[in-house]
Amino acid sequence: MTSRKVLQLVTRFVWSKMLFSPRNVVRLVYCSELEVVHASIPRVHAHVFHYPDTICIVRDFDNLDDEHKIGILLHEFGHLFGGQHDADADLWVEQVLGIDIEYVDTMQWVPLEALA
Ligand SMILES: [Zn+2]
Ligand SMILES: [Zn+2]
Repeated sequence: MTSRKVLQLVTRFVWSKMLFSPRNVVRLVYCSELEVVHASIPRVHAHVFHYPDTICIVRDFDNLDDEHKIGILLHEFGHLFGGQHDADADLWVEQVLGIDIEYVDTMQWVPLEALA
């Protein structure tokens, strides 16, 4: 799936689990600052809190398996609503969305069925 399609599926799922949608649109943008981080820490493919209502990604994100794309985007939504720390992000995903994020090859991994 394209990254934008995965974002669409994840966004729809996240909003369906929340009592209200505090934001209607979360955008994906390529981020040159993140490319610098990715070059030294290859597992880093996304971040938030850089631009409002935006998940920044690196170009390599587009080449990841769907499961990694889903897991990473869920984790980033976890940051948006659960806080800056990785553990808080995953905890939010677990408690609010009911998804236990797995880590495969040091990256978040969630199967498509989890969004059903
Ligand atoms: Zn950025
Ligand atoms: Zn994180």
